[in-house]
Amino acid sequence: MQDQSSKPATTEDSQKMTDGFHLVIDALKLNGIDTIFGLPGIPITDLTRMAQGEGMRVISFRHEQNAGNAAAIAGFLTQKPGICLTVSAPGFLNGLTALTNATTNCFPMILISGSSEREIVDLQQGDYEEMDQLAIAKPLCKAAFRVLHAEDIGVGVARAIRAALSGRPGGVYLDLPAKLFAQSMEAEVGKKSLIKVVDPAPRQIPAPDAVKRALDLLKGAKRPLILLGKGAAYAQADADIRALVEKTGIPYLPMSMAKGLLPDTHELSASAARSYVLPEADVVLLIGARLNWLLSQGKGKTWGGKNPKDWAAKSFIQIDISPTEIDSNVAIAAPVIGDIGSCVSALLAGIGANWAKPPVEWTGAIAERKEKNIAKMAETLAKDPSPMNFHSALAVVRDIIKANPEAILVNEGANALDFTRSIVDMYQPRKRLDVGTWGIMGIGMGFAVAAAVVTGKPVIAVEGDSAFGFSGMEVETICRYKLPVCVVILNNNGVYGGTDVNRSGGADVAPTVFVKGARYDKLIEAFGGVGVNAATPAELRRAMDEAIRSGKPTLINAVIDETAGTESGRITSLNPKKK
Ligand code: ADP
Repeated sequence: MQDQSSKPATTEDSQKMTDGFHLVIDALKLNGIDTIFGLPGIPITDLTRMAQGEGMRVISFRHEQNAGNAAAIAGFLTQKPGICLTVSAPGFLNGLTALTNATTNCFPMILISGSSEREIVDLQQGDYEEMDQLAIAKPLCKAAFRVLHAEDIGVGVARAIRAALSGRPGGVYLDLPAKLFAQSMEAEVGKKSLIKVVDPAPRQIPAPDAVKRALDLLKGAKRPLILLGKGAAYAQADADIRALVEKTGIPYLPMSMAKGLLPDTHELSASAARSYVLPEADVVLLIGARLNWLLSQGKGKTWGGKNPKDWAAKSFIQIDISPTEIDSNVAIAAPVIGDIGSCVSALLAGIGANWAKPPVEWTGAIAERKEKNIAKMAETLAKDPSPMNFHSALAVVRDIIKANPEAILVNEGANALDFTRSIVDMYQPRKRLDVGTWGIMGIGMGFAVAAAVVTGKPVIAVEGDSAFGFSGMEVETICRYKLPVCVVILNNNGVYGGTDVNRSGGADVAPTVFVKGARYDKLIEAFGGVGVNAATPAELRRAMDEAIRSGKPTLINAVIDETAGTESGRITSLNPKKK
């Protein structure tokens, strides 16, 4: 018998081959991307297996929208594009909502979908899951690319990463037709075709005259205010942002996902005096926040009156990476264009020891309002009604987060969102993840899974019972990966509440009403997680403490008074008026 080891090398051995599957994986890994959120199926099943085989973390979901939401928030948390991998047409469409939401929120994400063969799709000859996915994705995200040849995979992935991360971050679609995966080429040539992206989010230094203009305006202010948005949280310029607030002594207001950039208990936080500071401020410095509907477009009553002369008397300074954001709603007197890290450090450099802090008439008036509102809130939180209401349940969550400031709070719903945002203080940056710019429902479990996977920290998801329904099946995913996620469902028997009636007197319940007394805790038990029904704050506290202590997947059904909610929470005014 011939000795195998001494067999001369064949041409086949010396020309090791690779293929589309491996080139996609190698291109992602080369760029430091180590996690894929997705759902296997034709034509990407083998890609998920091989990626796992090559050492990537592959987190499989039960629905692509949740995988997409996971990828989006992973992007926000890590400043690396989150990857969502889906099958063709229906899987792609399921992922697309998350991609569009990521783009709207300025989160870097790449949706990679397998697709049918171009020749058949373009002639509309009826392929399996036929759809012109690239054309559909294009208007709904920041950029969209298709790769037809294995040797172009490196370029395709590099372009997708750059598009997702540079400038204003956003969602990118990468279309990979089924045939691409099996294309083979020499491994050495394949390796050389890959690109390691250098400096994918280049710093953008603000112009010195723009910085001076902003500082001059800020210096002259009598009632200055800093508004921090989720762009500021994304930028990871935490120390400089804190220094800017503290050195200038200017009160600040965090938007929802910017809570915790400085602790909500900071003496310069104006959160508890929001309705006072917005109309009264004379100069407002926006850092990574847009004057969209969440800020009443910078106009009207919120900002000081119905009459344009009242709110137009305010001057805005806006720090943003996107020059076209400026003047989108009201005139911006001093735009500062650049990345937040560079802009804030440039402002800081111009703030010397002789910087005059804002007049005490302003800071004192804010402190007075804060004190009054905080005392009023403390009184409400101290009540112990039966059944629980949002306040008494959230008083518990508030204490748990205070004791575990490193925990990540995911939050969605209507009342469940509004009350949590105002009651639960955050202490560290990027710990509050929520419905964002769209006020989208359904992000809950996707965000929770990704937050646990990419940070390793405990996650608490406070969910309205309606909001939870959009992604509830992912409790199986949470159990499967044994993630330290504690879901708290504020269950008031329906959308906004459980008391609506069928106006026809018919047998169906009203459109907003769910099954009364539903036991969501039983859901997680089906998958081996811990389910708890909590009817009192004491029961809720015990269950949450235990969940944090054990790190076990837990779902707590917190029974809330079904009359406690209001329609659409705090945005009732957006409902068309009934005739
Ligand atoms: P919020 O909803 O919290 O007010 P928005 O999503 O409306 O926040 O605004 C975020 C803003 O931050 C966007 O206009 C975006 O262009 C900007 N942005 C995001 N990342 C950066 C960055 N690294 N540097 C500068 N601006 C950024």
